[in-house]
Amino acid sequence: MFSEFPPSLLMTASQYQLLEHKTRRLISLVCFPSCSTCKTVCCNKAFCEESINSYWLSFIRHVVSCGGGQYDEVNGWLSPHGCQLPAGRPPVCYEFICNKILTAVSSKPFWDCFKSLTMLLTYAGEKALGNEHLITLSRRQIHTKIKLAKLEKRIVKAIDLYHEYEKTLFLFDEINLLYNGLRHDTGFTLVTHK
Ligand code: SF4
Ligand code: SF4
Repeated sequence: MFSEFPPSLLMTASQYQLLEHKTRRLISLVCFPSCSTCKTVCCNKAFCEESINSYWLSFIRHVVSCGGGQYDEVNGWLSPHGCQLPAGRPPVCYEFICNKILTAVSSKPFWDCFKSLTMLLTYAGEKALGNEHLITLSRRQIHTKIKLAKLEKRIVKAIDLYHEYEKTLFLFDEINLLYNGLRHDTGFTLVTHK
């Protein structure tokens, strides 16, 4: 299905995947204490379906990523251990931060930076073609209409912003405590519950 993809598009996808990987890890770190004990997990199959219906997100999942769990017709990507989708998640999955997490955050500067971090995947795909977001574009639009150089520039800018946010967040003790507690656990994910 994706074998005919030009190298330039594969390279852009690879950068998007890098951005997603970094962003997911850092958001997961902050959310882990709340999500790991949550009894009312906010995942919704309608969001999971976006990852299937979006050409870009399917592309990311199939071409760039490897591994991950099986999509379930009832529960989508959600398993008893959290989201099984390592790449190509809908940006909304990173954007949503519930009150439980909000109240656990210690200060407004931390929150402001963290909120910007949660918007990075949305930012990266904004106005990929006219006013349309990258994840809404069709196969034809992605292959023949988008300006790859512009998209790549946007994703690189998002990666730069990621590094700024990471630096700022690690100025706070709370994230260093979480990091030191979890750094040996490579399996934690954005939405995880016991
Ligand atoms: S973000 Fe995490 S803690 Fe908040 S409702 Fe969703 S799963 Fe629960
Ligand atoms: S985080 Fe994963 S399981 Fe949850 S709604 Fe998004 S794709 Fe579905």
